[in-house]
Amino acid sequence: MLLFFYFCYNKLMKKQVNIIGAGLAGCEAAWQLAKKGISVKLFEMKGIKKNPVQKLNTFAELVCSNSLRSNDNKNAIGTLKEEMMFFDSLIIQSAIKTSIPGGQSLTVDREQFSKCVTETLIKNPLINYYEKEFLDFNDNEVTIIASGPLTSIGLQNKISKLVGKDYFYFFDAVAPIVKFESINMDICFKKNRYDKGESKDYINCPMNEIEYKNFYDELIKAETIDLHLSDETNLKFFEGCMPVEAMAKRGYKTLTYGPLKPAGLRNDDGTNNFAVVQLRQDNAKDSLYNIVGFQTNLKFAEQKRVFRMIPGLENAEFIRYGVMHKNNFINSPILLNSYNQLKSNNNLFFAGQITGVEGYVESASSGLIAAINVYRYINNLDLISFPKTTVMGSLQNYIISTDSDNFQPMKANWGIVEDLKIEQKLKKEQKKELYYNRAIKDLKEFIDKYDLI
Ligand SMILES: Cc1cc2nc3c(=O)[nH]c(=O)nc-3n(C[C@H](O)[C@H](O)[C@H](O)COP(=O)(O)OP(=O)(O)OC[C@H]3O[C@@H](n4cnc5c(N)ncnc54)[C@H](O)[C@@H]3O)c2cc1C
Repeated sequence: MLLFFYFCYNKLMKKQVNIIGAGLAGCEAAWQLAKKGISVKLFEMKGIKKNPVQKLNTFAELVCSNSLRSNDNKNAIGTLKEEMMFFDSLIIQSAIKTSIPGGQSLTVDREQFSKCVTETLIKNPLINYYEKEFLDFNDNEVTIIASGPLTSIGLQNKISKLVGKDYFYFFDAVAPIVKFESINMDICFKKNRYDKGESKDYINCPMNEIEYKNFYDELIKAETIDLHLSDETNLKFFEGCMPVEAMAKRGYKTLTYGPLKPAGLRNDDGTNNFAVVQLRQDNAKDSLYNIVGFQTNLKFAEQKRVFRMIPGLENAEFIRYGVMHKNNFINSPILLNSYNQLKSNNNLFFAGQITGVEGYVESASSGLIAAINVYRYINNLDLISFPKTTVMGSLQNYIISTDSDNFQPMKANWGIVEDLKIEQKLKKEQKKELYYNRAIKDLKEFIDKYDLI
C-alpha cells in the first residue's frame, strides 16, 4: 500500500515542474511548458529582495543594455531569434511587440517588455507564481534552475553543495544611462553607423585628438570600486562586456578600435573624427540614452567627472551609473548532459546564463531547450539534442563539450556552429548565408522528426 502511494506521489510530482527564477530563461521555459499543458510553479524572489542591478518588480528584466542585438539573420544572433520563433518564443514575441527604434538591432522599451512577459505568464492558468526565494530541492520534483548570473546567496550555497566545487564566480559590468535633455545637441549629432537603418537611432559625441587624449588620461587613472577580489576564486572579464577603463588600459588607441570607433560616423560636413562616443535610445519615450560600451567599475563621482569630459556630455544628468557585478555559472561540461539535465540527478535541469550561455537571447534559448526536454522527460519520451548546425544546438553543444578547465560563457556566433564542410573558398557573406540556410533547413527537419510544434 505504501509503495502504491509512493508511486502515485512520484507520478503526480513528475507532472508539475518547478522553475526557479522568472528571468529570461525561466519565463521562456514556463511559457513553453504551459503551452504543452504542463503545470508550472514559478518561483521569483525580486518582489521580496532585489539584486543590486534589478529595478523593476516585473519578470524578464533586462538589467543592462535594452538591446536583444542584431535582427540580421546573417548574424548568428539574428538567426537564433528566427529559430526561436519557430517555437513561438515568448521572449522574442514580447521584444518585437515592445520594440523601439534601434537601427539593425532589436531594441526594446525595457519596462514595456518586462510587463508584456509578466502579463502573459500571470494570466496563464497553468502557471502559478510564488513570490519567494527558492532554497530547497526535493529529489522527487522536476525542477529547472534558472536563477541567473546573480543567483541568491542562499541558493548559491545549495547549488554549490549539489554540484560540488565545480562552481565558479565571474564578473560583468553595466553601462550608465543619461537624460536626453541633458545632452548638448549643438555638439552631438544623430546618425547610425554608415547610415544603416531608416531612422537615426544613435546620438554621437565627436572627439578630436586633443579631447580624446584629455579624456583618456583621466579615464585610466580614475578611481574604481574595490571589489574585494581576494574573496573570489575566479576573476575574468567578459571580452564583450569589459569595463571601459579596463579596455582603455590596454593601450592608447584601443578604444578607438572598440566602442569609440569613428568609422562610418563622419560629421555632416564630411570631416572625420578621431573618436566617437555613441549613445543609444533606452526607452520608448526617447528620454533616456545609454552610453554604448561604457560598462564600468569607476566610482560614481568619477563617472560623473570623467564621462562629462566627453564633448556634448558636459552637463549630462546620470539616471543610472555603471556598476560591476558577480556572475555565477556552473561547470556545465562536467555537470550537464546535452538536454540541460544534471547528470547526477535527472529530475534537475539548468537553464539560462547559469549554464554558461551568455546574453539575453541565448539565455531564453537555453530555457526553451530545457523546457522541451523537461516536457519529454515527464512524458517518458526520448530526450533530444538540437542539431549542431543550428545556433540553438551549437550553443547547447558548446556548454557541454568545451574543455571544462577553460570553460567560459559563450554568446551566439557562427564560430561555434558545425563547419560547413565545403572545399571551395567563399567570401564571409556567402558563408554566413550558407550557415543561415542550413540552420533553418535542419531545424525544420528536426521539428518535423520529433513533432515539436
Ligand atoms: C550586471 C549584468 C549585466 C548584463 N548585461 C547584459 C547585456 O547588456 N546584454 C546581454 O545580452 N546580457 C547581459 N547580461 C548577461 C545575461 O544574459 C543576463 O543577465 C540574462 O538576464 C540572463 O538570463 P537568466 O534567465 O539566466 O537570468 P536572469 O534574467 O538574471 O533571471 C534569473 C532570475 O532568478 C531570480 N532568482 C535568483 N535566485 C533566486 C532564488 N533563490 N529564488 C527565486 N528566484 C531567484 C532573480 O531574481 C532573477 O529574476 C548581463 C548580466 C549581468 C549580471
